[in-house]
Amino acid sequence: MQSSQRYLHIAVATPLRRTFSYLPPTGIADEQLQPGQRLWVPFGRQRRVGMLLGLSDHTDVAAAKLKPVQGLIDDTPLFTGAQLDLLKWASDYYQHPIGEVIATCLPAELRHGKAATISATYGWQYAAGDPARRPDRRAPRQAELLALFEQQPEAVLTASDLSAAGHDNCHGPLRALAERGWIRRARVDAPQAAPAELETPLPLNAAQQVALEAISASLGGYRTHLLDGVTGSGKTEVYLQSVAEVLARGQQALILLPEIGLTPQLVRRFERRFGTRLGVLHSGLTDSDRANTWLRARAGEVDVVLGTRSAVWTPLAHPGLIIVDEEHDLSYKQQDGFRYHARDVAIMRGHRESLPVVLGSATPALESLHNADQDRYTHLSLPQRAGSARSPAVHVLDIRQSHMHGAIADRFMNMLRDNLAAGRQSLLFLNRRGYAPVVMCHDCGWKAECRRCETTMTYHHGRARLACHHCGREQPRPSTCPDCQGTLIEVGHGTERLEETLAKQLPDARIIRIDRDSTRGRGNLEALLESAHGGAADILVGTQMLAKGHHFPGVSLVGILEADGGLFSSDFRALEHLAQLIVQVSGRAGRAEHPGEVVIQTHHPEHALLRTLTEHGYGAFAQAALREREQLELPPYSYLALLRAEAKQLQHVSQFLEQARDCLPRQAEVYALGPVPAPRPRRAGFQRQQLLLQAGDRTHLRRILGNWLQDVEQLTSSKKVRWSIDVDPQEL
Ligand code: ADP
Ligand code: ZN
Ligand code: ZN
Repeated sequence: MQSSQRYLHIAVATPLRRTFSYLPPTGIADEQLQPGQRLWVPFGRQRRVGMLLGLSDHTDVAAAKLKPVQGLIDDTPLFTGAQLDLLKWASDYYQHPIGEVIATCLPAELRHGKAATISATYGWQYAAGDPARRPDRRAPRQAELLALFEQQPEAVLTASDLSAAGHDNCHGPLRALAERGWIRRARVDAPQAAPAELETPLPLNAAQQVALEAISASLGGYRTHLLDGVTGSGKTEVYLQSVAEVLARGQQALILLPEIGLTPQLVRRFERRFGTRLGVLHSGLTDSDRANTWLRARAGEVDVVLGTRSAVWTPLAHPGLIIVDEEHDLSYKQQDGFRYHARDVAIMRGHRESLPVVLGSATPALESLHNADQDRYTHLSLPQRAGSARSPAVHVLDIRQSHMHGAIADRFMNMLRDNLAAGRQSLLFLNRRGYAPVVMCHDCGWKAECRRCETTMTYHHGRARLACHHCGREQPRPSTCPDCQGTLIEVGHGTERLEETLAKQLPDARIIRIDRDSTRGRGNLEALLESAHGGAADILVGTQMLAKGHHFPGVSLVGILEADGGLFSSDFRALEHLAQLIVQVSGRAGRAEHPGEVVIQTHHPEHALLRTLTEHGYGAFAQAALREREQLELPPYSYLALLRAEAKQLQHVSQFLEQARDCLPRQAEVYALGPVPAPRPRRAGFQRQQLLLQAGDRTHLRRILGNWLQDVEQLTSSKKVRWSIDVDPQEL
């Protein structure tokens, strides 16, 4: 019997919004071909990795143009049907080419065609070496490494583990230690000496018990739970015990954390409960460790996967539960390339794979609270701190006309002085690193600007350089004004200058600064935090980094030095982010004896929503903010998509966006706003504008976007710009 010709529909990582048709590889029976397999395909003059999405009897491509696939990479599919469906949904929903979606979701090695086999991972393990040949002061790196191995003589540490502990590129010292017999090669997955005693769960309080029961009862089907609990209310304990139930059912759990939340302490907390059944995925891993953990999760060899944003795509052999910790965190949104939101993908994944999803936060996103209000999510609250700690009191400090010591008002400086005298810790939050955001000429008004971005450059005193925080360009700080040789002055305050002010005003205080500059190099953040916890600091000064994931029980006074930027921003989400920040920073401080105080410095103490927040808490703030969003028809009461474009010449950008706007179907109930300049209208020499689409109905918007972008792609003006679409944009 003559079988009809079969065509393979294959996704290849290209910016083209389509799949590609090929003929089957020679010598391979049709039965061996299944969607989800990777194969080698000829692409132009190259050989590329493709993924088989389907087979059919039809293709639109002329027969003469069709080429056969060159070979199969996978004998069995890498993704199940449900997983492929999720990837297709994401491509469609976020309007991103399927080939690039799949490439983004695969670990690098698999993306480049490496076989999907789990390889044994090797690392180093302590061995009792010759004491006469112990590394001494002349070999400090060897000595440090040896100390690390001695602390955990049973452990097999991989390059990734060592890098996480602050030892990058330590190949040389490791070799030297091995030669002297102090460490030896060992397989990571080899059965280790008697597994350490696993920690037993804590007895839950009533609210935790209710939450755990609700989550347990929903296992086996789809349900989203919003676990709304202040910092320290015991959310992590609820996660741990829910995961234990999932494991008891023979299933796996996936736990997503913000980049900054995935700390060694948290990993150790999970390790103490689940031992070696844990796999961790984060950006510090080597490519081969990442691929291995991913494949082991897919094979069901690890039961608990802990990871950052992209871990949401990890295939699981027996998926049972997904947890998204700090679900409001902005790091869940990928801001370039394939712009997905990992929390929203997790929920869609829960739907498709029939499993519950737990969203945890002390400050849920307004979208999530709205969904809970609509009964789309189960709202579980943990209203109290689990231990004996009480929450600090929050004050708004009116700094109008106040005498300032740098960024600190006189009254607050007095509070700091008193707290110092009482021997207690303080924490100061200022979300701007560097010394001063502006360097200006006192004689003529000249300002140091990045010529590619047309924004002022920040002065960094430590490096004695000016840096552009948009494009990263740096240059030496001129000693006098380049225009008139006048005197240069620094205007405004960053964390570096704040540290200087404090040192002057409170000369006895021991100060630790934590920001991207002071923690450069992996391991430094951990070391600084460690000494902060150890009581080596009276005052902690920092940016955003201090607000997330770290507890400072010794801190009894917190200052949020600049709230005004968040109160009046063109981004409608800025206020929500400010409120989350205030609550998150507050939640890091205080303990039983000293619940502590939080002070917010502002020129607008009468701001209604700020008052609601400080007087009635985040829940009340969120309800008031939601009512405001409803009146203004902003998300979650409408749906947005943002078309961004940039080019060297402004006219190319505006012409493209105007033509794109004109391609929109008329009377489509989708409103286009713009083109308007982007929040950073120039960046690295590019002019940037955007067009915002707003619709009252999500399905509506989605239907229109697909056809519209096909038209947009055809515009000749689109060839002169770099453009991208962002569905559900988080930053406008
Ligand atoms: P969250 O994740 O909400 O910040 P955690 O789960 O980390 O809270 O809990 C905060 C602290 O309270 C931890 O030290 C934890 O061990 C403790 N804790 C949590 N649940 C209980 C409980 N039921 N009984 C006693 N202590 C608890
Ligand atoms: Zn000048
Ligand atoms: Zn710049």
